[in-house]
Amino acid sequence: MAIHDCCSQPGLRPFIDAKTDMLNRLEATRSTELIPVEQALNCILADPISSPIDVPSFANSAMDGYALRAEDITEGVGLQLIGTSLAGHPFSGRLGPGECIRIMTGAALPLGADSVVMQENCRSEHNVVYPAGPVNTGQHVRFPAEDLAQGETVFEAGTRVNARVLSVLASLGLEQLCVFRPLTVALLSTGDELKNPGELLAPGDIYDSNRIGVRAMLERLGIRVIDYGIIADDPQLIRQTFLNAATEADALITSGGVSVGDADYTRQVLEEVGRIGFWKLAIKPGKPFAFGHIDDCAFFGLPGNPVSAAVTFHLLVRPALARLAGEALKPTPLLQARALMPFRKSPGRMDFQRGIVSTQPDGSLGVVPAGSQSSAVYSAMAEANCLLHLEQDRGNVAEGDTVALELIDGLYW
Ligand code: AMP
Ligand code: MG
Repeated sequence: MAIHDCCSQPGLRPFIDAKTDMLNRLEATRSTELIPVEQALNCILADPISSPIDVPSFANSAMDGYALRAEDITEGVGLQLIGTSLAGHPFSGRLGPGECIRIMTGAALPLGADSVVMQENCRSEHNVVYPAGPVNTGQHVRFPAEDLAQGETVFEAGTRVNARVLSVLASLGLEQLCVFRPLTVALLSTGDELKNPGELLAPGDIYDSNRIGVRAMLERLGIRVIDYGIIADDPQLIRQTFLNAATEADALITSGGVSVGDADYTRQVLEEVGRIGFWKLAIKPGKPFAFGHIDDCAFFGLPGNPVSAAVTFHLLVRPALARLAGEALKPTPLLQARALMPFRKSPGRMDFQRGIVSTQPDGSLGVVPAGSQSSAVYSAMAEANCLLHLEQDRGNVAEGDTVALELIDGLYW
């Protein structure tokens, strides 16, 4: 693999270059299954969905009021009230000249009627209705197929079913959907210092937070997780666990052991049992992130520092898993905001600093750092609501400078 020189940090691969390369090396080879619509939340559509019906399928009223013929409206002249149309109980007759019916929101527009006047704009006396003001033909009518036409493509294959997509699918009356089978991801932490919740900390120990946080993000994405727990810094054990995981999962995510310390075996073992795609990126946090394969199993080595682990998961693993899962991920929109305080930055690595963005009194966006920018301080991460995208070659950001940022989706991480 070519080593890319960049700026002041030779040997580190630029972020976009590495991400593109990684996505090119991953392929969606998912089998599909049919599932009931009610169980489709978070699934990825395997086929495009075209509408089996017109939505709406009949002309109906957008207001509570009166259905009538616009041409009958003359100032001061009343219309004869001849019936009612309620949602689910259409009026069966036909509207003639000079007639109207009472109609409720969602109720079918009767034959002969072309418009609706809201009840607030009508006076009614002894079954005669006096609509006020001019009426535009078609007003307050929802026309057939106005929303979706029968046969129209509603969603492309690769769409993730979120609550909004699910509602549209439900409105089409679909019973079953063809979706990609969910990914299975193996997850483990490496580190002799790591302890599980509830265990006592010996001197030098810390609690394993990466695995818990990453598992939460995976579960939010509808991924099946095989949790291998904490693996000691023992190359033999790491090797055996990697090989087992590779036979059981579509991807293996590890945390820790990817740096150049004496007990960092992750990358070394990956090299022995699999193939390294790349290691070491021109990013901060997350420089030692490693990507590769063990047989067909994709491998993602997250750095041990908690902020680095979470940020590289989001920036690199999330899109990679989308590719594997058959999900067509849309580019993340970047917003422009004004730095309300200086941000320290040295040229050489793209820096994804954690920030708090807010709307200023003049309506513009302003951003401040979310506490410490150390990759070991996770509490600041939890306070942040955005990730800044500070360009690789950029230096310090002064107060008042414009920066690009992405909002953190608080439902997923
Ligand atoms: P490493 O990448 O293994 O050298 O770890 C870098 C730093 O992250 C060290 O301070 C580790 O103690 C810490 N660390 C490693 N794994 C975890 C984890 N699962 N949860 C929290 N901190 C970790
Ligand atoms: Mg370690």
